[in-house]
Amino acid sequence: MSADPAPTPPPEIERSWGHLIGGEWTDPAGPRLTSLDPAGGEPVAEIADGGVEDVRAAVAAAAAAFPRWRRSSPSARSHLLHALADRVEERAPVLAALEAWDAGKPIRQARTWDLPLCAEVLRFYAAVARTAGGETSEPNAGTLQLVRRRPAGPVGQIIPWNATSLMVAMKVAPALAAGCTVVLKPSELASLPALELMRAWTDLLPPGTVNLVTGGPEVGRAIVASPELRRISFTGSPAVGRRVMEAAARDLKPVMLELGGKSPGIVFPDADLEAAVEGTVVGIVPNQGQMCAAATRLLLHEEIADEFLARLGERIGGLRMGPPLDPATDVGPLVSAGQRERVLGRIEEARAAGAREAFRLDVPDGLPAGGNWCPVVCFDGVSPEMAVAREEVFGPVLSVLRWRDEKDLEALANDVSTGLAAAVWCGDASRALSLLDRIDAGVGWVNTYGFLPPGAPFGGVKDSGFGRENGAAAVEEYCDVQTVLIRHRGPGTSLY
Ligand code: NAD
Repeated sequence: MSADPAPTPPPEIERSWGHLIGGEWTDPAGPRLTSLDPAGGEPVAEIADGGVEDVRAAVAAAAAAFPRWRRSSPSARSHLLHALADRVEERAPVLAALEAWDAGKPIRQARTWDLPLCAEVLRFYAAVARTAGGETSEPNAGTLQLVRRRPAGPVGQIIPWNATSLMVAMKVAPALAAGCTVVLKPSELASLPALELMRAWTDLLPPGTVNLVTGGPEVGRAIVASPELRRISFTGSPAVGRRVMEAAARDLKPVMLELGGKSPGIVFPDADLEAAVEGTVVGIVPNQGQMCAAATRLLLHEEIADEFLARLGERIGGLRMGPPLDPATDVGPLVSAGQRERVLGRIEEARAAGAREAFRLDVPDGLPAGGNWCPVVCFDGVSPEMAVAREEVFGPVLSVLRWRDEKDLEALANDVSTGLAAAVWCGDASRALSLLDRIDAGVGWVNTYGFLPPGAPFGGVKDSGFGRENGAAAVEEYCDVQTVLIRHRGPGTSLY
């Protein structure tokens, strides 16, 4: 726990926001949405509830800015991305407070994880912008072959609410590094960190290079339906991801989909149990389990299962649930009343299906009424066919599945529709690697959890989507390849 128990006051911010289109903030008149504080239900700010016309204007601005930005030098792109990172670092205290105030993320997590990583991601792509290039070869004597990567055009990007600042960086930075311009939509549940970032960046961004339109699904649908946008990068639920892909198929627009997960944390009997308990906490507690890569299926070898659960229960039982703006808080509220209702419903459903509560961190007395408080619950006696073992809860709910024989692990771990991440806690790294080789997961961790430096490609398989963010190759997702063959010596066009 933090040594500083004083809650951070809510930051001084704009209370009424428009969209950022073509470098200008639009007039906040028109339909509005109210952002609520998840810890008490009080209004935090009003944001514009955008529509088709706003998206049309943002797409036109991104298209108008593209010819100039595509011709910008690698050096100019790199300088811009560093300047954006500088502003993130300057505004980090306000942005962290907004992650807490608008989305309920404990401020300590936002300060120590989201905001530092947000700046690092921008700096990583500042470096990639300088080094990204094509390939040259000589397929025969006298012919030179160039494989050029050219920015695809203006692109559309849609994000969820669980890590807004970080996700803005992970979307916008590779697109700008590639030479693309952007129309970005944050989630209607937590737009304020994205808006505050844009405000901090307005004078740095060449007008129209990044446009932000707030609002709900209508804005997302309009982005996906815009033929001028040449890529759609979507992060969110598998259900909406499917709809996005179907709609994008109409004009054969490539999509990148970063979707949900039901990731396993697998503990072998020879694992360092203390480290595995700590990693399990990291896999389920931060942001109240509202993480795509949350390790929500705990696959425990039956020999160590009871001891493991006793230690884990003690560790989680000692955590502090409280207001997200309090630096001493470990567990905050869920993002919305609807999300709380959904998660509590899943807990009831699991109990009704026969799952047994191993332990829980209860909601303490005295927290503000109207907050979206939810207990952290660990279910034992879960069988693979129960919904709680198969479907993403997106909340602080852990399901324990016990195993005896290593040969059953592959089937058990892969027995879900998603494949985002997996952790293996094991005394023998080669055994762990050999298991990971057979597990459907885009990211594997061995004897650690959650560490993902900028540059480490991130994404899933199966219903967790496709395309990779966060690595150098993400820039290529925003490029079209053009192959050029130059005959520079000798006559003819023959193959040999
Ligand atoms: P969601 O799918 O409901 O919404 C995501 C975004 O899509 C929001 O901005 C929303 O307004 C927009 N949207 C809704 N309907 C749309 C439509 N028809 N067309 C276009 N856009 C539309 O997801 P959520 O509840 O905001 O976020 C939680 C989900 O996101 C979880 O499944 C989680 O696992 C996933 N997620 C994945 C990653 C990853 O990198 N793989 C990261 C974070 C969250």
